Amino acid sequence: MSEIAVQRNKRVLLFAAKLGYQTRSFDEAARKLGVDLSFVTDRCHQLDDPWGDRAIPVHFESPEVAAYEVLQAVRSSNTTPDGILALGDRPAVAAAYVARGLALPYNHPAAVEACRSKLRMREIFREAGLPTPWFRSVSLHPAPEPALLGISYPCVLKPLSLSASQGVVRANSRAEFLAAAERIRRLLASPEIAATREPHLDQIIVEGFIPGKEVAVEGLITDGALRVLAIFDKPDPLEGPYFEESIYVTPSRLSEAQRRAIEYRATEAVCALGLSHGPIHAEFRINDEGSWPLEVAPRPIGGLCARALRFVDRSGRVGSPTEAIGLEELLLRHSVSLPGSDAQRESRASAVMMIPVPRSGILESIAGEKEARATANITELHITARLHDYISAWPEGSSYLGFLFAQANTPANAEAALREAHANLKFTLNPRLPVEHPATRQIVE
Ligand code: ADP
Repeated sequence: MSEIAVQRNKRVLLFAAKLGYQTRSFDEAARKLGVDLSFVTDRCHQLDDPWGDRAIPVHFESPEVAAYEVLQAVRSSNTTPDGILALGDRPAVAAAYVARGLALPYNHPAAVEACRSKLRMREIFREAGLPTPWFRSVSLHPAPEPALLGISYPCVLKPLSLSASQGVVRANSRAEFLAAAERIRRLLASPEIAATREPHLDQIIVEGFIPGKEVAVEGLITDGALRVLAIFDKPDPLEGPYFEESIYVTPSRLSEAQRRAIEYRATEAVCALGLSHGPIHAEFRINDEGSWPLEVAPRPIGGLCARALRFVDRSGRVGSPTEAIGLEELLLRHSVSLPGSDAQRESRASAVMMIPVPRSGILESIAGEKEARATANITELHITARLHDYISAWPEGSSYLGFLFAQANTPANAEAALREAHANLKFTLNPRLPVEHPATRQIVE
């Protein structure tokens, strides 16, 4: 009897804490590729779209329990995933346990767990001999006294496991240190952060401030080998006291030698952490002493920023030799070993601005969108903040007002387009009126 090979679609499990723009882009890319995508998420109650019935509900704060539930769901569905991807720091841990349970190529759970703690990451970099500033873990209860801890200035205080620079504060003196520690203590005790049930919300890491230029690196690891997809310059100085991102531009205008040094350091950092498969997003500082790894996250660049990256497979295996594919499609291809995941970033310069929040307040109005969109070399503008919502500026905040994208013949022109378009945008943010809490009669902001 002859055997007939039945072709089935490749299947990918996508772990995501937020269901929004990024998951939609993956959904579109998966449809195009004929890949079946199943979401694993802790935001199922927010699903109001056609893929709701394909989502597996979990709680990411207990990654091993989440992994057990996913494995049960996979077994009872009688389907075997061919690949795993995770968006965001929290989902990556559960994804790593599930990948292990299914023997799929992905990072080891211990490596992903290490990336979740800024303290553990510093220990690993130091032990691996990578350039590392001095660092200490400091308890916020009782209030720390820097003179007793041997703190020198300038230093940076940061929560152990938040992201997007939330709660990251530079201090140049004892007075600034005390004010920063108190501000972070209040942030970590806030209901929004407490609801994440992150461990160690009573601790911070304090480390030496590393001066210099900063870059972000987007990379893809295959069986332990890192390929750098893009180096983004961050042309606005990130000197503190807070570290809200603004502009990312690629290709980098660093010298060839500096770019090579960053690539080399990225490879060393990935090896030190034991990351072995899938996307990474990392940050580095460069100064006269060399290139310093700030952080490596086992996930792609967040949310809308991925739109700044398009790839072209010049061999023509993926569409036509000139048709660009998005980062999502590249990552899906990589996760199920379809051809084309070695496509190179397109040659035009590309830039994105994470539109900064000038001050905390209620977003009352936005003006100038039409003019911003009409600026030469601007390709897209997305306002993601909602009118009448309260928006927090950094260090308490972690969400931008929106995203502006530019493409141009040079990185300088792409950056200039963002600045020109941004100058047209006017956001009116009004302070929230203090109200008296009826039960405690205390003033709450
Ligand atoms: P997060 O994961 O919240 O983004 P990071 O540790 O990457 O936290 O810090 C956020 C930003 O703060 C960095 O991109 C950098 O600009 C700044 N930063 C953090 N640590 C240092 C440091 N030791 N020296 C100088 N800048 C720092």
